[in-house]
Amino acid sequence: MAKKKGCNDNEFCIFCGRSADEVELLISAEHAAICSDCAQMAYEYTKEALHPSNEAIKSNGKVTGEMKLLKPREIYDFLGQYVIGQEDAKKTLSVAVYNHYKRINLSKDDDLIEKSNILLVGPTGTGKTLLARSIAKLLNVPFAIVDATVLTEAGYVGEDVESILTRLLQDADYDVAKAEKGIVFIDEIDKIARKSDNPSITRDVSGEGVQQAMLKIIEGNIVNVPPQGGRKHPDQKMIAVNTENILFICGGAFEGIERNIAQRLNTQVIGYGAHEKIEQIDKDNLIQYVGPQDLRAYGLIPEIIGRLPVLTHLNPLDRDALRAILTEPKNSLVKQYSEIFALDNIKLTIKDEVLDFIVDTSIEYKLGARGLRTICEAIMLDAMFDAPTSSKKSLTITLDYAKKKVDKFAGKIVG
Ligand code: ADP
Repeated sequence: MAKKKGCNDNEFCIFCGRSADEVELLISAEHAAICSDCAQMAYEYTKEALHPSNEAIKSNGKVTGEMKLLKPREIYDFLGQYVIGQEDAKKTLSVAVYNHYKRINLSKDDDLIEKSNILLVGPTGTGKTLLARSIAKLLNVPFAIVDATVLTEAGYVGEDVESILTRLLQDADYDVAKAEKGIVFIDEIDKIARKSDNPSITRDVSGEGVQQAMLKIIEGNIVNVPPQGGRKHPDQKMIAVNTENILFICGGAFEGIERNIAQRLNTQVIGYGAHEKIEQIDKDNLIQYVGPQDLRAYGLIPEIIGRLPVLTHLNPLDRDALRAILTEPKNSLVKQYSEIFALDNIKLTIKDEVLDFIVDTSIEYKLGARGLRTICEAIMLDAMFDAPTSSKKSLTITLDYAKKKVDKFAGKIVG
């Protein structure tokens, strides 16, 4: 629009030429003016140019912000501060995570290095979630934990598989580019194993169908994600998320998989030298020999197994490991309680025999590492209740004291 005759330079918008009565607001300076519409447009343009939005970044095919690439040994050492034992898992995970982020940040050819999603197999409470959580903490990337048991095939009661990514988006404050470099831990993946060898007999809504749906997400695709999770519905606005660079770590106890492993090992070792080979097998911990064939026999579909190429195991925790978990990790329970009391200016001492007793109780009730916390809480509750109003400067937990508290809470612990 042209400048109107007889008007001064500051009586019309320098961009669109409209005068004050044609626009909502005209902002005038000495020799020029701008209308509110053009000012708004200029603002949007400046914002986009200086801080490109996720959409713009995505359409460029690149995500910004390189993260510091830690070497496998550095990752391993970091994990060692939080996770006791589980050497194989820590090592495998360190290499896989290193390769994954090397692929994202350094590789010129996006397709050359394949994504190294990870499968952790091991009894419940042995540190699978802890490992995944520690990795996310180290890398400072968005992290989400999802339980595979709530997922069902589209159209059935439960959550759509896409909701896996909703949690990640939420953790990234809906910053899509950030979420696209995040880590998702899918727990209890063994629970969506195919229930029978013949998939066509009955509808297996929480089994093979979910695995198929999950495949689409973990193999690397643009996935339409419902921003609030749950079930998708037609008029909901979806957020497109590219899963190409999201690292998926799956975990499962695969209870009973030892049978599949034993069967395979037995068949393999028949023949010359079989006797010696059987002797070499550690029959008390067969999980360490877990292989893709066993997962297949357990009911994971081959495509999913193929998309989780890094397979590692976690060992059951023995007494020594449980004892170490109480005191050694950077945020061990003993360190946590000491800090809680220190904040009330009380020096906490827990006798060694109390720590042994906590471990014994956890073993007796088959509570594993998770039980350690429950037992500690039972012992410490009254003390934590009284500490803030007490004039004491120190507190020593003795075996007698601990036993009394545990007896009182025994019903709760067992439950
Ligand atoms: P899961 O294998 O079932 O995912 P988690 O990682 O959730 O087990 O472990 C439960 C809790 O037990 C953790 O939060 C942690 O406190 C403790 N824990 C389990 N395994 C270990 C371990 N190897 N080292 C240190 N703490 C552990």
